[in-house]
Amino acid sequence: MLTVRDRAKDTICAVSTPPGLGGISILRVSGEDTLKIVRKLASFLPEKPESHRIYYGVLRDPQESDRPLDEVLISWFAEGRSFTGETTAEISCHGNPLLCREILEKLISLGARTAEPGEFTLRAFMNNRIDLVQAESVLSLIESRSSASARLALRQLQGDLSKKIAEIEDDLTWAMAHIEAGIDFSHEGLDVVDHSGLKKRLDRVEDEIKKLLESFRQGRVLREGLRIVFAGRPNVGKSSLLNNFLEEDRAIVSDIAGTTRDVIEGETMLSGTRLVFLDTAGLRDSADQIEKMGIERSHRAQSEADLIFFVFDLTAGLTKKDEELLGSLDPQKTVLLGNKADLLSDSDRKNLLETLKKSQFFQGFTGSLQEKLFFVSALDKKTRDHVLKTLMDRLHLEKAETSATLSSARHFEKLSAALESLGRSRQMLADQTGSEFVAVDLKESLIAIQEVLGKRFDDQIMDRVFKDFCIGK
Ligand code: GDP
Repeated sequence: MLTVRDRAKDTICAVSTPPGLGGISILRVSGEDTLKIVRKLASFLPEKPESHRIYYGVLRDPQESDRPLDEVLISWFAEGRSFTGETTAEISCHGNPLLCREILEKLISLGARTAEPGEFTLRAFMNNRIDLVQAESVLSLIESRSSASARLALRQLQGDLSKKIAEIEDDLTWAMAHIEAGIDFSHEGLDVVDHSGLKKRLDRVEDEIKKLLESFRQGRVLREGLRIVFAGRPNVGKSSLLNNFLEEDRAIVSDIAGTTRDVIEGETMLSGTRLVFLDTAGLRDSADQIEKMGIERSHRAQSEADLIFFVFDLTAGLTKKDEELLGSLDPQKTVLLGNKADLLSDSDRKNLLETLKKSQFFQGFTGSLQEKLFFVSALDKKTRDHVLKTLMDRLHLEKAETSATLSSARHFEKLSAALESLGRSRQMLADQTGSEFVAVDLKESLIAIQEVLGKRFDDQIMDRVFKDFCIGK
């Protein structure tokens, strides 16, 4: 992949639309020889095409006595005014893969080279048209599986997150300059470092990084969807609720305990956000080998989940066994669904709520019981919207859509590293350790931030960013 950088002067070409039959397909050509190469096929192009103009004509094969290849439109982008930053032509031809391949082969025989995966985006990055965060958002935008995540990716492509991270970089650079000035002058007995100003600035940086790190969960939810795992004793209605939420008969519902032996997965969309549900093996001790494996998997699913729906049967109340199972779940992400509310009279309901409120178990939960408990019925169609919409509102996903939000694991790792080194340097500053030492950690923090933006990069970073791209992007 990285050999690409050594070949940055080549003119590259690829089909940028998906393979298969369609109304039109688009071939992209980018590089300094674009005009020379494309004009050999498209003699209708003027000697100096205008940027952002579309030219219509017939492509002809000069190597086969001008045999017509296709009737096309060519969009022209001048150097410095295209996505890649280089002269670019986008040839819209008829949407037939054989035709595309023929035109592509002609372009190659005339001097272009097939683009590597992600190479157009890589060039945009190398030519400073976009930073690395924006390059990554191109991929996110293409791969978005929900409208919420597409909106997030588009905002990142437009530079929202980059701006925030660049501000952090500015602050760190300023801090570095002050510390280094302090080092330079220290032997002359001058103390130019105003520590209170420096401290304030670093406090702000720390706050900003923390905010971004906190936004990661929301960003990931927008990107990949919210993972919700069902847990609870057998026969309490997990599969029935799963079907209710998915609005289909995905899970097999039966009243024989232990039917759900594996993890069943299904997904649905709610207000543009993808929700992924997992119904796990009924949590109970089992001697059955297969069921045991299922139980193991369900524990794993629970630890990876954003939310756990712990289902219990209202007609039985919260049993000892329920409390025992609940005890092993993370209270922060557990929501209780008391199911089969249709079988409960109003007075039963009141009594049960009183008992639950008194239950010692709920002391471990943050927030009020009301926020953690829903009385539901899998037989009621309104259950889905009632439970899910309430929870989504609480997760403040809409806030993530309007503020700078982290959604890439790479950014999360780098920013975590930046925060760690920043913490060390702040500590040393407080302990009045020598400026040289403070500077070392500050520098480390700054480097991590610059790596997010791609101001510093190495093969490993580039590999990680571009490995998932397809040819033509
Ligand atoms: P699981 O083992 O927890 O997945 O439970 P199932 O979804 O298989 O349900 C067990 C039994 O309870 C089935 O006979 C369902 O029809 C029944 N059931 C599930 N939810 C409800 C509910 O809300 N109301 C009533 N009346 N029955 C339910």
